[in-house]
Amino acid sequence: MANGRGILTIVSGFAGSGKGTVMNKLISEYDNYALSVSATSRAPRPGEKEGVSYFFKTREEFEEMIRKGLLLEHAEYVGNYYGTPSEFVFARMDEGKDVILEIEMQGAMQVKKRYPDTLLIFLTPPSADEIYKRLKGRGTETDEVIDRRMKRAYEETKFIKDYDYLVINDNIDDCTARVHGIIQSAHHTVEHEMTLVESLTTGLTKFQ
Ligand code: 5GP
Repeated sequence: MANGRGILTIVSGFAGSGKGTVMNKLISEYDNYALSVSATSRAPRPGEKEGVSYFFKTREEFEEMIRKGLLLEHAEYVGNYYGTPSEFVFARMDEGKDVILEIEMQGAMQVKKRYPDTLLIFLTPPSADEIYKRLKGRGTETDEVIDRRMKRAYEETKFIKDYDYLVINDNIDDCTARVHGIIQSAHHTVEHEMTLVESLTTGLTKFQ
């Protein structure tokens, strides 16, 4: 039997890479994905909903989650805590869902270290100017925050080499289709299909 366990994928990307839009499209177009909802200590942006966009926590509440070991990974990004609640991730993977974490690099590296078969995908706008244009155009952050996010983006370029795939988001439809293709291919790696290999080996012994 083929391995029915879902694939764990991390999607990271520069601020303004359109990760959120690509993830929403992936979830709405294909039914095999489950998107993890993170906890954060940052304040909600207009339109963000508790339990949908994030689980919004105070710094104290977040630190309590860390202490209780409820997070698969966590990191500080531009002055706020962000982390992935573990329980949802493993329950959905056991059900055969492909779970996606849309998280930044430090968290991505923590997960990859603990679970080396995690698939790491990095999304980028086509150019540096486009990163700035998209952040500015979003109109939800102050110039100071945009400045910090641009500096952070520069730092992040050094770690892109640790990812498995780099996908340009120049068009939402194309980008979503590429990400879907990459994750679906991961179902057929020999490493993921070792249960099938074992069953074929057992089945073939009677013909020896
Ligand atoms: P934003 O404040 O724009 O929603 O997110 C800021 C950054 O935090 C993004 O790069 C996003 O991918 C990342 N992020 C969101 N949730 C998590 C999480 O659970 N863990 C980590 N490590 N990063 C996260």
